[in-house]
Amino acid sequence: IENVRKVYDGDPEVVAVEDVSFDIADGEFLTIVGPSGSGKSTLLRMIAGLEDISDGTIRIGDRVVNGVQPQDRDVAMVFQNYALYPHMTARKNMSYGLELTTDLSDEEIQQRVEEAAEMMGVTEQLDKRPGNLSGGQQQRIATGRAIVREPSVFLFDEPLSNLDAKLRLHMRTELQQLQDKLGTTTVYVTHDQEEAMTMSDRIAVVNAGELQQIGTPEEIYDEPRNLFVGDFVGSPP
Ligand code: ATP
Ligand code: MG
Repeated sequence: IENVRKVYDGDPEVVAVEDVSFDIADGEFLTIVGPSGSGKSTLLRMIAGLEDISDGTIRIGDRVVNGVQPQDRDVAMVFQNYALYPHMTARKNMSYGLELTTDLSDEEIQQRVEEAAEMMGVTEQLDKRPGNLSGGQQQRIATGRAIVREPSVFLFDEPLSNLDAKLRLHMRTELQQLQDKLGTTTVYVTHDQEEAMTMSDRIAVVNAGELQQIGTPEEIYDEPRNLFVGDFVGSPP
């Protein structure tokens, strides 16, 4: 991410992301934290290609992806509201994107779906529609849909925020195990600082569209760069 800026047109225009730069290492789990409206989702959506960038460069591997369509970026995103198609079964939700955008055979697609479903513990739910699944099950299907794409980068936008506290803790462990198993580079957005502190290799703290600090959980907690960061992660004064 290099000098990336996002201005939403309108009256008044909104500067959602202001000159943000950072690197994400291959296989790293990076969490972006910050208050509501600080530009976290905008940043993620720009990496996903769901939002144009106003300025700057986004590179994935060696490739500049500015202007590249989302399905051609080798990323997969999981949304806060899961964004499952209500009229499709869980199985179809997981296979549909692959059917549209790859030339994998039906057999290969179904095999990927079944492997991902097993990984996420939702094999029994595959022939149900989202309306007949619990929040946690929908979350697992949405994550499974990202897994079947076998992307280079996972993008998670507050994937656990609609779950109750107990399930949230459980899913946190599951997502960590998934990361250990697949080793896929992950950018994870949350406003839950405890989630960030426990899951991440590094944390990027943003406020009002600006990157405040990026570092390991220990660095952020022990050496917050400014009052905002210290306050946000609850460092001792
Ligand atoms: P939250 O924690 O509430 O999800 P966020 O950190 O994800 O917040 P963004 O959704 O990225 O924040 O929003 C950043 C800023 O951009 C906010 O001021 C928001 O109102 C504005 N914004 C977001 N999306 C749009 C849009 N489509 N059009 C205009 N302004 C937008
Ligand atoms: Mg958001």
